[in-house]
Amino acid sequence: MMLDTSRRTAFGPEHEQFRDSVRRFFARELEPHIDRWEGAGIIDREFWTKAGAAGLLCPTVPEEYGGPGLDFGFNAVIDEELGYIGSTAGISLHSDIVADYLVAYGSEEQKQHWLPRMVSGETPTAIAMTEPGAGSDLQGIRTSAIRDGNHYMLNGSKTYITNGQHAELVIVVAKTDPKEGAKGVSLILVEADREGYARGRNLDKIGFHSQDTSELFFSDLRVPITNCLGSEGQGFAYLMNQLPQERLSIAASAQAVAQRALDEAVSFTKGRKAFGRPIFEFQNSKFTLADLATKLQVGWAHLDWAITRHKAGALTAAEASAAKLWHTELQWEACDASLQLHGGAGYMNEYPIARLWRDARVTRIFGGTSEIMKEVVGRSL
Ligand SMILES: Cc1cc2nc3c(=O)[nH]c(=O)nc-3n(C[C@H](O)[C@H](O)[C@H](O)COP(=O)(O)OP(=O)(O)OC[C@H]3O[C@@H](n4cnc5c(N)ncnc54)[C@H](O)[C@@H]3O)c2cc1C
Repeated sequence: MMLDTSRRTAFGPEHEQFRDSVRRFFARELEPHIDRWEGAGIIDREFWTKAGAAGLLCPTVPEEYGGPGLDFGFNAVIDEELGYIGSTAGISLHSDIVADYLVAYGSEEQKQHWLPRMVSGETPTAIAMTEPGAGSDLQGIRTSAIRDGNHYMLNGSKTYITNGQHAELVIVVAKTDPKEGAKGVSLILVEADREGYARGRNLDKIGFHSQDTSELFFSDLRVPITNCLGSEGQGFAYLMNQLPQERLSIAASAQAVAQRALDEAVSFTKGRKAFGRPIFEFQNSKFTLADLATKLQVGWAHLDWAITRHKAGALTAAEASAAKLWHTELQWEACDASLQLHGGAGYMNEYPIARLWRDARVTRIFGGTSEIMKEVVGRSL
């Protein structure tokens, strides 16, 4: 099965050419390994360097830092293709989120050092905001980075961190001034080989099995003050600036997964018979599928609008939140309806819909829950 992009408006021929090479790379280096990675709870470390060598990591990194200097549309192409395949490899977080923090706020030295390594896949990355005691309410984080001469001393812990096992560089959201709320938050670059850095276990999740998700612990961990990303105390503002791209990236993937769920349902119901006719022929099946096809048509138009708007630098935080809300809710609806149309087969792991359904559950939670998306949209009204 292949994602039909013939009616898309956000992409030019250069994006579609890139999509061809992404598809070829995934068919060769990703799809044959998905089942093994799902079992292992993590992708192979070499996948990072292979993806880097194929030019699939960090498309927006400028050429002077070893990247191809492309627009976000190329990230979206990768997100959609990963979504349609049903892969949860954590390269989008690295490319769409972490890379842009460095591009936007990194010092020249930080950019020269880290960006080429991120583009090549030598340094997989993570971003650590969430803590056992604070997720939606980010201002409530307790991890501290206290100034001690030319160093910060980090103490605290993070949880649910995507790429937590593979990451060798982590943007840690920490309080440089614990007395302050948002104004006390800074972003600190932490290398995983520093003394005082410990990875917890790879967490046992309902789905997203091939993406490693971990706890991280910092105990009297010292980093030079030059590891602060951007200005001290500006971390919260930076997070607010970057979250729209993270949310759009999740929306793009969600829409592609929803399409795959529909395509699987159409194919399955045409092939399976009950009461002497294909399941597809029942009015209930056709209406369910037609309803989803209609929402998907609207969804693609909306996604193209949002990508185009983001490329022009105009997508607002509320619009990106609305996009994440809408596309991830559609993803869940499509996966659940498709699984139902598969009957018992849908509950069997040998059918792709089983994994799509399992993995869909989290997209309404991470990157900000649907409730928080409504809060953001609501505040804009
Ligand atoms: C697989 C996975 C990967 C993740 N990857 C990362 C990562 O790489 N980096 C990272 O930092 N985090 C990551 N997260 C964390 C994720 O972003 C948080 O789980 C999410 O933001 C919700 O925070 P929480 O779990 O603390 O839930 P809580 O904030 O405790 O929320 C619990 C419930 O309360 C609701 N709620 C909270 N506040 C409000 C409100 N104001 N109004 C209405 N309802 C509200 C929520 O919507 C939710 O339903 C990941 C999570 C998962 C599951």
